[in-house]
Amino acid sequence: GQVSRMPQHPMDGDQDVASPFGLPDITEQALLEAIEQDQFTMVYQPKIACRDNSVVGFEALVRWQHPEGGLIRPDHFIPLAESLDMIDPLTDVVIEQSLGWVATMQYLPSLSLAINLSAKTLVNHEFADRLAARCLEKSVKPGRITLEMTETAAMEDSVMALELLTRLRMKGFHVAIDDFGTGYSSMVQLARLPFSELKVDKSFVMTAASSEEARTIIHSTVELGHSLGLDVVAEGVEDGNALAFLKTIGCDYAQGYYIARPMPTHHVTGWLNARQAN
Ligand code: C2E
Ligand code: MG
Ligand code: MG
Ligand code: MG
Repeated sequence: GQVSRMPQHPMDGDQDVASPFGLPDITEQALLEAIEQDQFTMVYQPKIACRDNSVVGFEALVRWQHPEGGLIRPDHFIPLAESLDMIDPLTDVVIEQSLGWVATMQYLPSLSLAINLSAKTLVNHEFADRLAARCLEKSVKPGRITLEMTETAAMEDSVMALELLTRLRMKGFHVAIDDFGTGYSSMVQLARLPFSELKVDKSFVMTAASSEEARTIIHSTVELGHSLGLDVVAEGVEDGNALAFLKTIGCDYAQGYYIARPMPTHHVTGWLNARQAN
């Protein structure tokens, strides 16, 4: 009934709107305090195999639990954190929390976790070593972790991208190219970078059911990915028709609101159990 649908936790439902009063002022000072006062928290969105609908892993997505502004989504603060040179401490928080969570999920060793990287991480030469050290501390195998970098970030500085991605691969991590189709990579650049996975941008997938053009783009992207030996993930699956289409064209994995919204950790076990029961 009405009561059971009411959010019991600030992140239940993963609302888009920060607060009924709009976004609070996001300042350098507020960001600094947010890091000091642990105001960042993670939500996790499942990823399934198109072949058999099995859950293969989760993507970690950061949220800012603002003391006055409610829950703020990353598009509202990541760009500022990047321009203020605060992305490294923020990435540290993201990694600490999400590796900590994976460590508690060791009873499900086949589940993978994807973590988003900022373009600024390209110039952080210690990143791969530090991440590997964190994984060792927490007894998390690097093979369970995929780092996602947007197509735009990877292509803006493909020399630096090659260096970071190579270091990550050497440590045993997987790497994915995110938001693919919104930038302008050449086949040559894409083939040279050691990606293991390609994520078709949600703008195409969200419109797959209604747009023939979007379906054509998705289909050729899946073929491009496969011809380069990459696994292909479609993000932004919002309806059953889109998922059915992805299955017919042989897309490997899918994520989206139709499957599940990003959720706080305390919902994951319940969600997995409910899915098993179906
Ligand atoms: P992304 O990595 O491409 O993540 C997918 C975004 O689409 C997420 O938004 C997710 O909540 C949303 N989404 C998932 N399924 C659907 C769907 O079916 N329909 C629609 N309309 N949207 C869907 P979110 O969480 O707001 O994140 C936005 C972007 O912020 C991410 O895009 C990623 O680039 C960045 N981001 C998120 N978390 C982090 C982080 O921890 N670190 C960094 N550096 N960037 C992050
Ligand atoms: Mg991503
Ligand atoms: Mg994306
Ligand atoms: Mg995006």
